[in-house]
Amino acid sequence: MTKDCHMVWDSCLRIIKKSVPPQSYKTWFEPIRPVHLNNSELTIQVPNKFFYEWLEEHYVQLLKTSIRQELGERGRLLYHIMEGAQNGTNKTSEPTHSQPSADKDNEPVPGVFDAEMIKNPFVIPGIRRIKIDPQINPNYQFDNFIEGDCNRLARNAGMAVAKKPGGTAFNPLVIFGDVGLGKTHLAHAIGNEVVNRYADKMVLYVSAEKFTNQIIQAIKNNAVNDFVNFYQMIDVLILDDIQFLSGKQKTQEIFFHIFNQLHQNGKQIILTSDRPPKDLEGIQDRLISRFKWGLSADLQAPDLETRMAILGAKMEVEGVDIPNDVLEFICYNIKNNIRELEGVMISLMAQSTLIRRDVDIELAKEVIRNFVTTINKEITVEFIQELVAEHFNVPVERLHQETRKRNIVIARQLSMFLAKKLTNKSLKAIGETFGGRDHSTVIYSCKAVQDMMDTDMIFMDTVSELEKKIKMSLNH
Ligand code: ADP
Ligand code: MG
Repeated sequence: MTKDCHMVWDSCLRIIKKSVPPQSYKTWFEPIRPVHLNNSELTIQVPNKFFYEWLEEHYVQLLKTSIRQELGERGRLLYHIMEGAQNGTNKTSEPTHSQPSADKDNEPVPGVFDAEMIKNPFVIPGIRRIKIDPQINPNYQFDNFIEGDCNRLARNAGMAVAKKPGGTAFNPLVIFGDVGLGKTHLAHAIGNEVVNRYADKMVLYVSAEKFTNQIIQAIKNNAVNDFVNFYQMIDVLILDDIQFLSGKQKTQEIFFHIFNQLHQNGKQIILTSDRPPKDLEGIQDRLISRFKWGLSADLQAPDLETRMAILGAKMEVEGVDIPNDVLEFICYNIKNNIRELEGVMISLMAQSTLIRRDVDIELAKEVIRNFVTTINKEITVEFIQELVAEHFNVPVERLHQETRKRNIVIARQLSMFLAKKLTNKSLKAIGETFGGRDHSTVIYSCKAVQDMMDTDMIFMDTVSELEKKIKMSLNH
């Protein structure tokens, strides 16, 4: 009886199935189709180059054994690589000769493994094995991520995930919190820890912004499939600042697909966000519901002791010596943003070297005051109007016009209130920036907002959230 390619491949699969974990079998062998058998040469079709490479990298021995068992010592395997699937037409590339019996260190197979052709920004060209640069910052480690009540849950969950990527219930792990509280640091620390523990795991850190830009590029180059395939091979994917995906439908769609594949295959996903998943606006519900599958852990503003420990540790690394009372003074005054805390320390050191003054509380006061007034100087009424209008989802011009529409009236009154509170502008000047209203309107508005805050807790939260956002936005 003559064998056909299906029979041969089925027999190979039976051998392979016994030797690899079910999940790997499903991922790497089920998608393969036998296409041709010519004497002792079996041709199989694989979805893309990455796939081919993965097989060669991880399963060459197994493939060799099974092929030889079926086709004898002269048994050979050839690959067809499907390409251009995103266009709907599956063009088959020239069959390329790859001998499972070949030495692993042999020259790359010509034609198939052309690093130039791999449309992925992270592939290090010229290296035969798939090696990606994980894009993690070696300075951000667990060791220098000081633990406090404010971050204990997130830090411990991060450590658990790093020890067993994909193997805990924390998948995805969502780290959320305000700007400057350590989300990016912690995300990198997890990446570093995984790389240290598991040299063979593919880790990738990418900001949501970069991810979005890559998708735009991939669409331009007609390479969305390559893009998706690449991301599906990652073991630990860290996507920073997912709020950036808001409103970007195509990116969300592609990420949804990648997320599902990774999650299904037991790969670890780590996300950071400036707010809890449920509050993400402009993000598809199906994504938000997936973000909630694992654990969402927040980073809060650190208490005084933790702030001092963080700053103390930074100073030690930098070789900076600041008297304790000054350290405490700084930490006492800068509460909500660790990056700012570091900023003050750096300015303080700069001042002391430039004007050769001892670092004391007087100098610290001047630096902090400078810090704070430069921040205040930058807050403009226009900026407040923009943020408030955006929050209420109304065009900013509407704030200047006559209207009785309730949400616009509230947005306008609130903008006035915040302008009064956060800028040095006079009532008259504020009124003018709202389509030429007079100062008594501004007074009335401020009182109306105050009354609402006194009676409506939710409104009060909105106001403080916006206030914080306005202050924070200026730190960039
Ligand atoms: P986010 O991404 O939340 O805006 P970052 O991760 O960029 O914040 O952190 C801002 C700065 O604060 C970084 O320099 C980071 O190293 C530092 N930082 C934050 N939390 C800690 C911590 N617990 N221990 C030490 N440094 C911290
Ligand atoms: Mg960050």
